[in-house]
Amino acid sequence: MYEVGQVLRLRKKHACGGDTWKVLKSGVDVRLQCETCGRVLLIARDKLVRQVRGG
Ligand SMILES: [Zn+2]
Repeated sequence: MYEVGQVLRLRKKHACGGDTWKVLKSGVDVRLQCETCGRVLLIARDKLVRQVRGG
């Protein structure tokens, strides 16, 4: 389970070039905010698990 406020590094870079995301809300779906451009997205946790670098 990811914690609110935790910063994750994803394998795939965002369109803005950033690859670090802050957890805004955790649950079955996780809300992430791009630390570079501030864009918010919602992603299913099981999908996110495969995207996170270094576990
Ligand atoms: Zn971004």
